[in-house]
Amino acid sequence: MDDKYIGTRNNKINISKDDPDLAAYLKERASVTDADIRLYLREVNFHCPLCGKDLQRKSQKKRSVKLFEIAHIYPNSPTVEQHLKLKGLERLGDNSESFDNKIALCKDCHSTQDYHTTKEDYLKLIKNPNLSKKILKRHNELKSKKDELEMKNDAYNKFIELKNNESIDKKRVSNIKDQQLSILSSKINIEMNRLNNIIYKEENNAPILSFSKNNYSFVTPENTGTGIAYKGLVIFDISVLNLTNLPIIVHDSFILKQISDKAFEKILELYIKSEKQVIIAIDKKNSYTDETQKILDESVILNLGSNGNELFGKSWG
Ligand SMILES: [Zn+2]
Repeated sequence: MDDKYIGTRNNKINISKDDPDLAAYLKERASVTDADIRLYLREVNFHCPLCGKDLQRKSQKKRSVKLFEIAHIYPNSPTVEQHLKLKGLERLGDNSESFDNKIALCKDCHSTQDYHTTKEDYLKLIKNPNLSKKILKRHNELKSKKDELEMKNDAYNKFIELKNNESIDKKRVSNIKDQQLSILSSKINIEMNRLNNIIYKEENNAPILSFSKNNYSFVTPENTGTGIAYKGLVIFDISVLNLTNLPIIVHDSFILKQISDKAFEKILELYIKSEKQVIIAIDKKNSYTDETQKILDESVILNLGSNGNELFGKSWG
């Protein structure tokens, strides 16, 4: 490795030979981070440790113009004079660029220190009494750790809060759903009860619709006969037709023929009263009551039968 020299051409010392410890200590200049600059300022309590000048501007506006510089305590490129004056004195840090070998100074003191360091000044800087560099660094590490943990705690608390809100929202949605379903079933049940009274004059129970969480039940209390079940279906359809915007219902003879003749006559009257479109298909018209037949005759649209009245002209059996 090349020998290391300090000084000028006329006054040069080969420190690799004369002072190998110093040769190893002197490293190339390294930049200082903003975080370290804050520590250096705090270390000297924002005052130049040599002359006491304020290192921080009072006015916030002028903060961008610096009053301080970060200086090497043991010079990075010592002059022969400095080398001789500081010979044998303690040096801080592993090398000239260590955190420990730098300090904040006012600009004036820095320019003096750069070329003409006195033993007194140097010792003053080494024993800077305000704060130990080690404690300062440790304090900073712990503060960063604390800030990080606080951030994590905040994030966790926020997460728990959102999770709680989510379950409250879920419960609210579920309650609203239950409420809506009970309003819906109540309206339909009232209408079905009204229609049932018209058809049966309170001789038979009306069907009752109820919703549970994921299901529904539709029953006619104290009656499970097939005719009653179909009657219930027809009453439900007419109720929905009356209560909603549904424009049309279609009932086939298959459903209608299960219902007693007297009840069917009343149901026909309900169809007629509805102002919406009702389409029904009926066979064996003559088996119904006279009144029923009269209503059917008045409202028939299409009459199919044998002897030329087949749909598409062809009998299917
Ligand atoms: Zn100063």
